[in-house]
Amino acid sequence: MSIVRNIVHSRRRKRIANTNGLLTADLIKKADEPACTEAALALPIGIPAYLASRLQGRNTNDPLIRQFVPNPSENTLMENEFPDPIGDRKHSPVSGIIHRYPDRVLLMPVLACPVYCRFCFRRHSVGDGLLTDEKLNTAFSYIEENPDIWEVILTGGDPLILSPSRLSKILIRLNKIPHVRTIRIHSRVPALDPIRIDNEMINALKTKKPIWLVLHSNHADELDSKASVAIAKLIDNGIPMLSQTVLLKGVNDTPKDLENLFRTLIENRVKPYYLHHGDLAKGTSHFRTTLSSGRKLMKWLRRRLSGIAQPVYVLDIPGGHGKVPAGHCWIESKSEGEWIAEDISGKKHKYFDEIEPN
Ligand SMILES: *Cc1c(COP(=O)(O)O)cnc(C)c1O
Ligand code: SF4
Repeated sequence: MSIVRNIVHSRRRKRIANTNGLLTADLIKKADEPACTEAALALPIGIPAYLASRLQGRNTNDPLIRQFVPNPSENTLMENEFPDPIGDRKHSPVSGIIHRYPDRVLLMPVLACPVYCRFCFRRHSVGDGLLTDEKLNTAFSYIEENPDIWEVILTGGDPLILSPSRLSKILIRLNKIPHVRTIRIHSRVPALDPIRIDNEMINALKTKKPIWLVLHSNHADELDSKASVAIAKLIDNGIPMLSQTVLLKGVNDTPKDLENLFRTLIENRVKPYYLHHGDLAKGTSHFRTTLSSGRKLMKWLRRRLSGIAQPVYVLDIPGGHGKVPAGHCWIESKSEGEWIAEDISGKKHKYFDEIEPN
């Protein structure tokens, strides 16, 4: 029996792993199997069959292998790492809801993903499966009773792992709440499990209220021809798409990798939205970059890359304090009304605010 099947059965908590286990087993070196079994207790292994077939024969430094195949380094825990690095728990008023900003909430109907990213920042909860109907109802009531909630962000887990009929029920319910004006879905499915974007899924996503889809994508190699077809199908059916990327050592922390990714996204009509600085999740130090290297990369991109292909580099402040732009500051205040602006070649220029006439 394959190692992955064993892992799935020996797991302490009940977790969903929709993996083609045999394919995954071939991707783990024999000598690494015990360490990877341990790593899978903290975060399940999950690689959809189509992706697993694409990964065959690649080496351990490959950006996709690094993201999805467990690595013994995951068992190395650092003191500055937290089980809940972005403080989800303290902003969760009811199960399945995280309410950190006044105008928007996260709604997590399912804590399972088609593919488990080895750097997952929600590893403490991901793999727990479906929210029960009762909890989902309580979550809907919370949204209904809070008129400040303008946007509902379906995330998880990956909401597009749900069956179209289940997803449709959730979207219909959200459409009935008058103060909810827009819905956002964060997903990896269009790129990494594109078969799920079939006609039924498209029909489920056709609702009155606008749906914005944010694709989680970290490397241009994730976006093959099947992914392009799935993305085009979504956009052609009226769903605008953005992307979010996590900056990861050995996956995309070079100017070339980021440039390729952001160009490929734009070529697929997906607007790069956020580049996340990696969260301090447990067992992820082998993916960690520094803020200063991230800022250097963004500065480099500003010099090279079309404005529409530029994401905002953000840090989610550990402890639940929210996301803030973390990029290089091109304009600095010198004194009241006096500014120094740096151009893309590094030259400094003075700028003065207009003095108000008396
Ligand atoms: C990231 C996040 C959001 C979305 O933030 P945006 O800046 O609007 O993309 C909303 N709620 C929580 C709790 C988040 O972590
Ligand atoms: S898709 Fe998101 S929630 Fe799922 S494993 Fe990857 S990072 Fe974690």
